[in-house]
Amino acid sequence: MTSRSTKKSDNDFIFLKIIGEARILTSKILTGSFSTVYLCRDVETAKEYAIKACDKKLILREKKQEYIKREKDALLKLNNTIGVIQLLSTFQSDKYLFFVLTYAKNSELHHYLKLKIFNLECVKYYSAQLLIAIEGIHRKNIIHRDLKPQNLLLDSSMKLIVGDFGSSKILSDQTDSKEEQLNINNNNKNQEERNISAIGESKRRIDRRASFVGTALYVSPEVLKGSKSHFSTDLFAYGCIVYEMCAHGRPVFGSSGENEYVVFQKIQNMDYKFPENFDSEVKDLVQKLLKIDPEERLGAKDPKESIYKSIRDHEFFSTINFDTIYSQTSPLIF
Ligand code: ATP
Repeated sequence: MTSRSTKKSDNDFIFLKIIGEARILTSKILTGSFSTVYLCRDVETAKEYAIKACDKKLILREKKQEYIKREKDALLKLNNTIGVIQLLSTFQSDKYLFFVLTYAKNSELHHYLKLKIFNLECVKYYSAQLLIAIEGIHRKNIIHRDLKPQNLLLDSSMKLIVGDFGSSKILSDQTDSKEEQLNINNNNKNQEERNISAIGESKRRIDRRASFVGTALYVSPEVLKGSKSHFSTDLFAYGCIVYEMCAHGRPVFGSSGENEYVVFQKIQNMDYKFPENFDSEVKDLVQKLLKIDPEERLGAKDPKESIYKSIRDHEFFSTINFDTIYSQTSPLIF
């Protein structure tokens, strides 16, 4: 962030239209939006940006300070990371905190999945881009913790960019990441004990986080059991998303309207099916990612220096050049 850009104020932008809102969920009732995302034009340069305006009063009332801080800290740390939304500057007025973000002109990946226009080439292209983005995020010692098609945005050239870091976890570069690795082993040791822990408790935990997590469809088994999340938690969500891309928007563990408790049970029992004619290579990749044991997920044991080589080396990606995938034209542009 340059010192010049931090001096900007809301007078430096024309607020053109609302493109989205982060809603507050109170006991399943939407009670307002604590942040609104606007399409804006920089008065001086005429460039377009997405500006997230966070209502200070509502943030305090709904105790969302942590959420906002996490998003800002993560985005600052992820400056110049390929495939990640860029925070270009921040400023504030009496009422609002403003985040100036790169504008993802083509909305969310989510919208394209249900259109049934995703062929195998599209699945490969976007799975490879998402993998590169996850690699970059994890290399910076950040766990996203809320990867889902609604948080995967598409820029003006239909390239994938990961957004919404409000649920992310930033590990300190030395200690925490080691702890997270050790935590995998502790999780395994206590797995049986944790299996006994009531699903009700998991459900309560998830319910408490519901306003952040949004949907339970991508929550990993370890998070459901109340264990700490780690890098491999994002790999589980990655597996869910790859499945969904190939299944024309059908989530692995149920439809978005499905009872959350049923979804949680399906996840804990790894109860899912592949539709007929599901590509065999994608199937193999998904099966290797959707493991109950976080350590067993493909890529989980990759050393930091070569994350996620074992996923890149999977036969599904044999025709993909990861060095150039972000400069290749999207198959969705004809
Ligand atoms: P919720 O989880 O309540 O749906 P959220 O936490 O995803 O909201 P935001 O990240 O604030 O909330 O995004 C709100 C909406 O604005 C989303 O629909 C998202 O697609 C859109 N949006 C967010 N950032 C951008 C951006 N940089 N460019 C374009 N659209 C964006």
